[in-house]
Order: sequence, then C-alpha cells, then structure tokens
Amino acid sequence: MTFTADALAGRVAFITGGASGIGFGIAKAFAACGARLTLASRNIEKLTAAKQELEAMGAEVLVVQTDVRSPEAVQNAVQQTLEKFGQLDVMIANAAGNFVVPAEEMSANAWKVVIDIDLNGTFFCAQAAFDALSKSEFGGRFIAISTTRALEGWPGCAHAGAAKAGIMSLCRTLANEWGDRGIRCNTIAPGAIGDTEGVKRIYEDQGVANRQLASIPLGELGKTKDIANAAVFLCSDAGSYITGADIVVDGGRNRTHSGTGYPGKRD
Ligand code: NAP
Repeated sequence: MTFTADALAGRVAFITGGASGIGFGIAKAFAACGARLTLASRNIEKLTAAKQELEAMGAEVLVVQTDVRSPEAVQNAVQQTLEKFGQLDVMIANAAGNFVVPAEEMSANAWKVVIDIDLNGTFFCAQAAFDALSKSEFGGRFIAISTTRALEGWPGCAHAGAAKAGIMSLCRTLANEWGDRGIRCNTIAPGAIGDTEGVKRIYEDQGVANRQLASIPLGELGKTKDIANAAVFLCSDAGSYITGADIVVDGGRNRTHSGTGYPGKRD
C-alpha cells in the first residue's frame, strides 16, 4: 500500500474510461484509499466487470454507460452520481481515443472523432461537474489525463496531440476561473505506460517498443499504478495547494532527445 487506506475517505470520484487501462488503475487505487466511485464509458460489459472487481475490494461503485462526446450523456451520469452518493468531489477526464496515421493521410472524420472524444469530452466532463465540485467539502478536484506528446508534437497522432494540447490549455483556464470555488484543476501527463492497450497499439504493433524504451532515462515503461499514485496524491489533502499544474509521470522521457518513437518515412 503506497497511501493510507483513508487517504481519500469520504470522497466520491467520477472516472471516465475507468474500466480499463490507466482509468481502471486509478479506480483501484482510489478504492484502496476509501473513495466511492462512478465509472463512465461506452462498453457496459467492461464497466460491469470493473465494478465487480472494485466491489470485491470493498468499494461502493456506480457504473453509467456514457459516451463523453454527448454533453447530455455526461450530465446524466453526473446526475445519477449525485442521486446515488449525494456529492461529487473528483472528476477525472481520462477517456480518449487514438490511432496512428500520418497527418497527410488522416481523414476529416478521423480528426474530428479524436478531437471530439479527447478535447470536447474533457470539456463536457468539466462543465457537468462544476457545480458539484464547487460544493465539495474537500475542495473539488478536476484532473484531465494528457500526454507529454501534447507539447512536443506527436508524429503519427496529430489529432490526439492537438487534442491533448487543448486539454492542457483548458485546465490552465479552469484553474484560474475556478480557483475561487476551491476547485483544483490539473493535468497528469503519462509517458509510455506498459500495461495498457494504447502502448501495445501505438508502440509494440508499430515495431518501435525498443526505441521507446531506450528513450526513457529510468529504463523501463511506466505502469498504470504510477499514474494512479499521482492522481491519489493530487486528490488527497496532500495535493490541496496544487492547481494549474501539469504533472509529468514518464520516467524522464520528455527530457531526452532520442526521438519520438515514430517509425517515420525516412527510418
Ligand atoms: P484505454 O484502456 O483504451 O482507455 C481508454 C478508455 O476510454 C476506455 O476505457 C474506453 O472505454 C474509454 N472511451 C473511449 N472512447 C470513449 C467515449 N467516446 N466515451 C466514453 N468513454 C470512452 O487507454 P489508456 O491507455 O488507459 O488511456 C487512458 C488515458 O491515458 C487516455 O487519456 C490516454 O490518452 C492517456 N495516455 C495513455 C498513455 C499510455 O501509455 N497508455 C500515455 C499517455 C497518455 P469504452 O470502450 O468502454 O468506451
């Protein structure tokens, strides 16, 4: 156990994409620290399986089938959370879509879909949670999951890189606008997290996993629990004076110059 079992006691957290990968890692860490949870995403089978695992840990869990591209759907999921738990203290906008395609071959629809899930979905989550977060007795927390590639540029993923850069800007704005409501707004930027489908698709399936590894000073891929630890810290009392920050959790990858890991046309 990295944190005490009561580090998030009394809090209710809403996690989009909370049934898989990094989102599920955050959900498990939050459950271990005493939080009650809402998980929201599209696939009800995945949500139900995650709920069972979290309940076996002793957590109280609501799942709501939700597409974050719909502001009404997100508002409905927040409303259901308030009806079940009576409060909402943490919103984690983690849901995202992404796939590798060179910018010049990217269809207009591909661009729009990723911007819609990642950037628009994050905004809809923030807006839907605002009222409840401003009433949180713990000081509300809004966290969006970004990536270090947002500001470096992300060859092969122009849509996701641009969306994540937009998310970083959004969180800085919200930190300013919502500070007087006690809402702390931060991003967490993961590096390459080994126990996720994303890394499998973006790096392993593209044959660049070894190059990726070589670009990480700490010499290993991250784990979902590394991102979860940052999220618990930000949402606990220990994180109460942090807002407008981008917390990088990448083993130092953003400090190296050994390339982006993209196969590229001239390799
Ligand atoms: P993942 O397991 O594929 O998680 C993405 C989640 O988003 C899924 O649970 C999916 O659930 C949900 N989702 C997708 N579209 C949705 C929509 N329209 N509405 C609601 N939910 C939707 O991938 P991950 O790697 O854990 O990624 C989690 C976050 O970390 C993302 O923001 C990603 O950009 C970021 N990140 C990951 C890495 C990495 O190394 N993996 C690195 C940097 C940043 P459903 O299918 O049930 O909808």
